Parts: sequence; C-alpha cells; structure tokens
Amino acid sequence: MKVMKFGGTSVGKPERMAEIRKLITKDDETKIIVLSALSGTTNALTEISDSLAKGDREIAKQRINALENHYQNFIVDLLKSEAYFQKAKGILAEHFEFLNIILKISYSEALNKDILAQGELLSTKLFSIYLNEQEIAHVWLPALDFMTIDQNNEPQVAAIREKLTKLLEANKGTKLFVTQGYICRNAKGEIDNLKRGGSDYSASLIAAAVDASVCEIWTDISGMHNNDPRIVKNTKPIKHLCFEEAAELAYFGAKILHPASIWPAQYFNFPVKLLNTMEPEAPGTLIERDSDSEGVKAIAAKDSITAIKIKSSRMLLAYGFLRKIFEVFEKYETSIDMVTTSEVAVSLTIDNDSNLQQIIKELEMFGNIEIDKDQTIVSIVGYHISKTEHLLAKVFNSLTEIPVRMVSFGGSQHNISILVSHEHKEKTLQLLNKGLFE
Ligand code: ADP
Ligand code: ASP
Ligand code: MG
Repeated sequence: MKVMKFGGTSVGKPERMAEIRKLITKDDETKIIVLSALSGTTNALTEISDSLAKGDREIAKQRINALENHYQNFIVDLLKSEAYFQKAKGILAEHFEFLNIILKISYSEALNKDILAQGELLSTKLFSIYLNEQEIAHVWLPALDFMTIDQNNEPQVAAIREKLTKLLEANKGTKLFVTQGYICRNAKGEIDNLKRGGSDYSASLIAAAVDASVCEIWTDISGMHNNDPRIVKNTKPIKHLCFEEAAELAYFGAKILHPASIWPAQYFNFPVKLLNTMEPEAPGTLIERDSDSEGVKAIAAKDSITAIKIKSSRMLLAYGFLRKIFEVFEKYETSIDMVTTSEVAVSLTIDNDSNLQQIIKELEMFGNIEIDKDQTIVSIVGYHISKTEHLLAKVFNSLTEIPVRMVSFGGSQHNISILVSHEHKEKTLQLLNKGLFE
C-alpha cells in the first residue's frame, strides 16, 4: 500500500485534478490519497476567521462570497455531466451554508478550527465526485474519524493505526481511498488541525499507521532544492537525503515539508519521495534511512524568531543556572531552538513568542534581559557536516558583510545554524549559496 499526498497547487485547478487522476490510476497498488485544500483556500479561511474574530462581519461575508464564487467557477470546469455538477453544487451549498451560519455565531478558537477545516473537506469531496464521474472506484475516508491528537497536540499514532485499520478493513477490496490532510480531532473531540502545511504530516502519519511502502509528497517543484528557490537563483534539486538531513531542513524552514513530517518516516522506517505533479517524470528527492554522502546538502531559513539574552554576573561559576532558565520556558510550553552561552550570559531563541511577556518577567529575576525580534535562523544542513574540512571557514568567509547574532555548531552533527536579523536573510542565503555551492 502507498500513500500519495497532493498539495494545494496540485489540486488548485480542475485540470490539475485530472492530472492527479492519471497519477493515481497508473497501477493496481492500493493507495491512500491525501489532499490539501485548493491553493489559497486555507489563507482565505484564515482571513474569514480573523475578520470574525475582530467583529468585522461585513468583511467576513464579502470574503465568504468571493471564496464561494471561486468554487462555483471551479466545478463548472471540473465536471462534465449535469448530474455530477448538481452533486458538486450540493456540496458547495452545504459548506458555504455552514460558513454563512457562523457569521451569526460568536467567535471562539473551536469555531476557528471548524472554519479552517472546510478547505480539505471541500477539496476531497469535489475530487471524489470527479472520480465518480470518471467511473473510478474509490472510498472517501473522513480523516476526522481516525486522525487524532492528544492534550499536548501530539498525534496518537497507535489510536490512528487502530481506527484507520478498522476503516480499511470495512472497505476490503477497495484499491483507492481519498482522505483529507491537515484536519484532525483533539483530546476534547473537537475539530482541530496539524498546523499550516500539515497535510504532509497527515500523509506521513497515515503511512506510518498502515505500514505503507512509501509516502509520496506531490507538490509544485521537483524535490527539495539546495536553497530556498523563492529567494536564491539557480537552486538545484537534491536527489537523495537521509532522514536526519530532511528532518533538519523541514524543521529549519524548508517550506516544501511540514516541520514534523519526517519523524514518522524515520521511526517506522519508510521512504518519503518528494515529487512534482507538473513534471511527474522528474526524479524528485528520495528520503530514506541511509545517507549517500557526507558534507553540505542544503540551506534553509526559519523566520519570526525571537532572540533572548540573559546577562548575569551571578552566573559566574554558579551551577544550576541554566536549569532555572530552561524551567521558565518549560513552564510556558515554549520550545528553544538555539542556545549559546558565555560565562556571564546566555542567548537563546524561540519561535513561539505568545508567552514572551510572562517569560521575560520571570527571567528578570535572574539578570538583565535583552530581546531581539524578527530574527531568522539560517541552517546549513548535511550528513556529518560538522566533520567537513574547512566548512566553518567557508561559512564565515561567505558572510563577512553580515552581522551574525548567534552561531550554533556541534549540537547536531548534521546542522550549523546562524542567527541573523530578518533584514539580512536574503543576502545571507545568497552569499552562502555562492560560498558553498558555486
Ligand atoms: P504544497 O502546497 O504542495 O504543500 P508548499 O507551498 O507547501 O506546497 O511547498 C512547496 C514550495 O516550497 C515550493 O513551491 C517552493 O517555493 C518552497 N520551498 C521553500 N524552500 C524549498 C526548498 N528548499 N526546496 C524546494 N521547495 C522549497
Ligand atoms: N491547507 C493547509 C494549509 O494551507 C494544509 C496544507 O496545505 O498542508 O496550510
Ligand atoms: Mg505544504
């Protein structure tokens, strides 16, 4: 059995859905197809939700109408026969009626999650109607019946496996299943999600749950590139990555993969392939356990980082100081990405600053606090790069004109991270590309 996940741009146009149909019916292997929302939909739903939260009902209504219009046009091009067109109209009526009803309900976080879930429900239902029109046998699986997260927002792999296995067994003989990425139920049983870009994570969790032979992530680019193609010219696709490399790149900002999408593959040991829906014959990137080479593979960047410096002469020769500092972050459920220490100061970075004020308040008991917002972590990733000769010299020689705020080396064997302020991000990526790859 294999899992094939198609992202927003891959399902975003009716002709793309036709391409997907070809890709998923090429052979007889049993497949679970995981779809994202049509491109732009989750952004639109976020905006609708934001306007509701602010009490701008009129603007929310306008946004709902614009989105509905988009879908009405979409189904005209997607479906040929009147009967299936009417079915699709019925689906749109159901989901847009829901969105119109929420205009009258008071806003809550739970309602926000309900709103965000509409995108994947719509894309998979429309795709299912399209497959029916094309007479392709399949079963539509509701992700909300098997994809669950616990109180800490961690996926419950064992429960997912049990529920999904039952659903598949109830549909014995079915070769094709279509389900939603991104959406899930939380510990309270409410609709929730796996965070932006979460369909990749859904796909790898599903692959883990069914012991899939491979998890294919189909997107709009032919695999992981060696640098961010939106910022750097002439980036190149990477044919092979090991799990450690892919996990570091995903975690440190390579948008092509959700940050958490690699650990299920690593833990349950199945390969992940990154492939291009628009260029299906391209080799893409194969991600698997063994590495094929050592040295620098790629550079990625993670934005919206806050750097915190705690300066204290009390730290001099004191033990237990770091524990006290880290306990503050634990208390506020805030994870730390980078840490550097000197004898009298500790600098660290966080990517979630929702509890920053409380954290600062508690840290002030230990010393003087300095905060730098809008920082970017730039990571240089490759298997065993920490052993690569002259690498640090190359990195620093490339960056003579960039004010570097922090450096982290040796924490992971596969990653060197530097922190720069966001305004220097583009230049940093470009200079490193030149220094390391050209
Ligand atoms: P999908 O909607 O299919 O999930 P995403 O937009 O989430 O697609 O991810 C694909 C995009 O990631 C590419 O179009 C590309 O612009 C961006 N991207 C950023 N960094 C990289 C990288 N290192 N390699 C490939 N793509 C990258
Ligand atoms: N639709 C969701 C998003 O845009 C999930 C995904 O596409 O992976 O974030
Ligand atoms: Mg994505």
